[in-house]
Amino acid sequence: MSKKIFSKFDREIMKEALLEAKKSFYKDEVPVGAVLVHNQKMIARSHNQMEELQDPSAHAEVLALRAGAAILGDWRLLKTTLYTTLEPCLMCAGALFLARVERVVWGAPDLRHGAHGSYINVFKSKHPTHTLQIEGGLLKEASATLMREFFNIQRKRDETVIRRPL
Ligand SMILES: [Zn+2]
Repeated sequence: MSKKIFSKFDREIMKEALLEAKKSFYKDEVPVGAVLVHNQKMIARSHNQMEELQDPSAHAEVLALRAGAAILGDWRLLKTTLYTTLEPCLMCAGALFLARVERVVWGAPDLRHGAHGSYINVFKSKHPTHTLQIEGGLLKEASATLMREFFNIQRKRDETVIRRPL
């Protein structure tokens, strides 16, 4: 997870993904953002909308893949890179493989659900037909700080609810 692997372009795109994560933050959603790049051009961007849509699959990555497939008119997202502010979960890792995404760049580790080593590593076995390059830790602090702030606010809110007299 050396910083050297990331280009200036990678950093610029991850900043856009962080802006998406902030959209989730202000909607009281776990703040995760994702951007899909095709041939060095941003084609889709999204943020976690599980609460808004009441959909357990409405992760930022899945929504960005769906939007990208609609734009390209092809579910095979060849020559794409998916940037996400959080280490992808098992579901998103599966979707990334199925969509034939070429490269994934993520920000902060997800200790509870991360499928690139934090919880489990589904990327370490060579896939029989598809090669997926994955690198983590880009703008990790910015993403982790946003997550921490979000959960601190949630915790305080929960405590307030518990302490409120009947
Ligand atoms: Zn996910």
